[in-house]
Amino acid sequence: MSAEQLVERKRPIDTPRYDVIVVGCGGWGLAVLKVLADLGLRVLGIERREICHNLRHYMKRMVMHSRLSYMVLDPDDAILAQKGETHHPLIEELIQSYSDFAVKFDLPIKTHHELVDIEGSRDNFALTVRDPEDRTVRLAANRVVLATGSFDNPNLAGIPGELDAAVHHYFHEWEHIKGKKILFIGGGFSSADGIIALCQRNTILWAVRKSSDEVDQMLTDQKTIWGQPDARLVNTEIWPESQVLSLENNTAVVQTPCGRKSWRYDLCYMLIGHRPNQELCARLLNGNLAFDDETFESCARPGVYLVGALAKKHLEHIGLTDILCPDNQGIRYIERIRSAMQQEFNCAER
Ligand SMILES: Cc1cc2nc3c(=O)[nH]c(=O)nc-3n(C[C@H](O)[C@H](O)[C@H](O)COP(=O)(O)OP(=O)(O)OC[C@H]3O[C@@H](n4cnc5c(N)ncnc54)[C@H](O)[C@@H]3O)c2cc1C
Repeated sequence: MSAEQLVERKRPIDTPRYDVIVVGCGGWGLAVLKVLADLGLRVLGIERREICHNLRHYMKRMVMHSRLSYMVLDPDDAILAQKGETHHPLIEELIQSYSDFAVKFDLPIKTHHELVDIEGSRDNFALTVRDPEDRTVRLAANRVVLATGSFDNPNLAGIPGELDAAVHHYFHEWEHIKGKKILFIGGGFSSADGIIALCQRNTILWAVRKSSDEVDQMLTDQKTIWGQPDARLVNTEIWPESQVLSLENNTAVVQTPCGRKSWRYDLCYMLIGHRPNQELCARLLNGNLAFDDETFESCARPGVYLVGALAKKHLEHIGLTDILCPDNQGIRYIERIRSAMQQEFNCAER
């Protein structure tokens, strides 16, 4: 242990003990915070930046693809209410609804507080947190819910050049881009969104492992179902069933069904998914994200619970997937963590 870590561990606890500290205030962290506060528990949410920080990393005018059934917590909010299940809000609308939700229900949240470490065990946790002035704060809690999402580290393909400056792994700050040759890699909605946004003013090449039928379907859905009915796909060449082999020196070498091709690009978006913060997971949970299916309690660290995109073991947890899992179970999972905590603390709902 370094001298700095030793000093941090000796630092006194700064606040009274909480029943539960919820780490991360995206959609899931907020939902859990609300249901636990309704149980009368002494709760605190901590968020490293602003509420829904991860969602703010994406195109503001992007439409949420799937319904948000895990967030049926405020019947008065058109987006967060049950009737919102068929509505596909823009990301900026959703962030506003989440923020209003936190204010309306007076959820106790410290923004700009980042969890760095957790010591101790069930009933006696001490959380090391960085505050907005970069000071170390220590918080005490009986239980911890981790809702830190799955957007910290980009997935990589293990190919040369993928960490070059011209290769981006998140899609944001794109509005100013024009007159460029842009390579997109990845067959998800992020690529489709990005291409539709950029193709009017740039030349696009999209290398994707999917078949051309699947790619056509995705673009059709993207343009007609999710709010961009007048979007036109122009200036775009699609190489389906293709694999990028290298990205060195702003040149993509791609294995296509018609042989190996190379293409010079100005910038590349490699959008092949993201993962939770690997370092934090190793520190807190020995890298073991397994949890009890009924209670969400971590197998590696009793007293710590995993929810939302972090607990991606079941795809339906993340609310992303009613297309993949038509019977989206988000609401049921919120109920589960509510009853697990109700039993743990032997409390009745207010
Ligand atoms: C680009 C994008 C598109 C999406 N599209 C859809 C969609 O169409 N439909 C849909 O249902 N869902 C969609 N989602 C997912 C959805 O919005 C939520 O992100 C998802 O349900 C997971 O929520 P979450 O609360 O688990 O995690 P997140 O929303 O990722 O929130 C995690 C929060 O934890 C905070 N945090 C992380 N580490 C720390 C730390 N150490 N200390 C303190 N705070 C920390 C982060 O800053 C963040 O605010 C999308 C997400 C993204 C990013």
